[in-house]
Amino acid sequence: MPSTFSYEFKTPTYSGKTSFNTGIYINGEFRDGSDSTTIDVFNPATGQVIAKISEGTPKDIDLAVEAAQKAFESSWGLKCPGAQRSILMNKLANLMEKHLDELAAIEALDGGKTFFWSKNVDIVAAIDCIRYYAGWADKVTGQVLETTEAKLTYTRHEPIGVVGHIIAWNFPLLLMCWKLGPALATGNTVILKPSEMTPLTALRMCELIAEAGFPPGVVNVVPGYGNTVGDAITHHHGIEKVSFTGSTLVGRKIMEAAAKSNLKNITLELGGKSPNIIFDDADLEKAANWAAFGVFWNQGQVCSAATRLYVQAGIYDKFLEKFTEKLKAINVGDPFGETSWHGPQVSQTQYDRIMNYIQAGKDEGAKVHIGGERIGTEGYFMQPTLFTDTKPDMKIVKEEIFGPVGVLIKFEDEEDAIRQANDSTYGLAAAVFTENINRAIETVHKLKAGTTWVNCTNSLHNNVPFGGFKQSGIGRELGEYALHHYTNVKAVHVNLGIPMNI
Ligand code: NDP
Repeated sequence: MPSTFSYEFKTPTYSGKTSFNTGIYINGEFRDGSDSTTIDVFNPATGQVIAKISEGTPKDIDLAVEAAQKAFESSWGLKCPGAQRSILMNKLANLMEKHLDELAAIEALDGGKTFFWSKNVDIVAAIDCIRYYAGWADKVTGQVLETTEAKLTYTRHEPIGVVGHIIAWNFPLLLMCWKLGPALATGNTVILKPSEMTPLTALRMCELIAEAGFPPGVVNVVPGYGNTVGDAITHHHGIEKVSFTGSTLVGRKIMEAAAKSNLKNITLELGGKSPNIIFDDADLEKAANWAAFGVFWNQGQVCSAATRLYVQAGIYDKFLEKFTEKLKAINVGDPFGETSWHGPQVSQTQYDRIMNYIQAGKDEGAKVHIGGERIGTEGYFMQPTLFTDTKPDMKIVKEEIFGPVGVLIKFEDEEDAIRQANDSTYGLAAAVFTENINRAIETVHKLKAGTTWVNCTNSLHNNVPFGGFKQSGIGRELGEYALHHYTNVKAVHVNLGIPMNI
């Protein structure tokens, strides 16, 4: 029998109890994994084990595919009108809202993000995302195409079938909803693998999905490791699409697996090393605040984090001074602390990885302007860190660190800024700070990135597409754009009088 996770939250900002099943969720039921093994889940603020979840295996993926195919043929897909799918999705969003504090608290406990940010960004945006796509469920339509009077020609946007979702640990519930929203709205059934580091909100969501009344098998959640469960999803011939959020390294493996198996349709949301260009006419107070948010929000574990800060030479010293004040003001502490802005990194592995990058920066001759050290002895807390005196080929300038580490670099003029900003294999996002709107627009149009910001950072919206240029990904999440990745377009030609004599 799968175990239950029970936890009592008592914090200055929230108190309440949560209790839910931690088995794998297939065909509307929780069960043990087929090998009956478990995975430990840690609280990054303490480093202690807080839960045991069932570990999925490739055999469980076979079972999940069977359930998802059955649901697709019998109770979902073309068997369930869009308006009905919309009702169920809205019910799910309402249940999430009812449990907003609980979901936010689970996310903070499991992933180390602060309760404040978890509640006010992650969970609120996740609810909005399900509502946004619920609105689309009965509005995805084909077209009638005028050809000749002898023919009626139209297109249908049909659901693809069983889709696999593999997601990262940095925004567990939000990423789950980014995937579920367009997939369910268009009538696909889902097998989702959360990161085994942060599986708890996905499992709690399964109970809400059941309570909302989704037919069994429409959503299946199989936690497990990437090289077993993730690999099985990407190679499975019964899964016709995979939408993946994670590193560029694993993204390549997903693409290879898709090519080697059934040539499945893939969407890849991958890493980034985004630039933020601060021109000499920027409002420095505003720029310093947004720049700090751009690098350090969510402990720097944001794919679109604008960690390469390019500052125009004339304001470099002044900006550095202001930015340093902002870094000093970032309160790193207990995710449930009333004044905490920044929690611990998600795991020991991530903590070590970031520390190795900081060491590499020092070894390669960059200067730690501020930060660079561990905080405390328990959990994975570290100081927000800024490097100066870097060179373009240093690891800390080129590679995604996925932690609270930024690099501050000087530029001379617009051409120099754009050249340096575009000098990356990534192209997820880019920001520009200036009070001159023409300069802002000219610059963002020249930046090679899927999302660009003028005078802000890390700002997204459910109806605006998000995704990468270059090695930051293929396809788009969010907005109407994401819907296109979840349907097969079928053309229908009806003969109304075209003669044929043989
Ligand atoms: P990983 O690529 O390591 O893992 C992502 C997911 O893929 C996890 O669930 C992982 O499982 C799974 N996985 C690992 N190996 C395989 C495999 N061979 N086949 C199938 N699945 C596999 O990324 P992280 O979880 O470390 O997340 C950080 C990365 O995600 C960063 O690069 C970040 O930029 C990116 N990201 C991109 C976003 C975007 O929208 N562009 C948004 C958020 C993050 P397991 O945990 O067991 O390894």
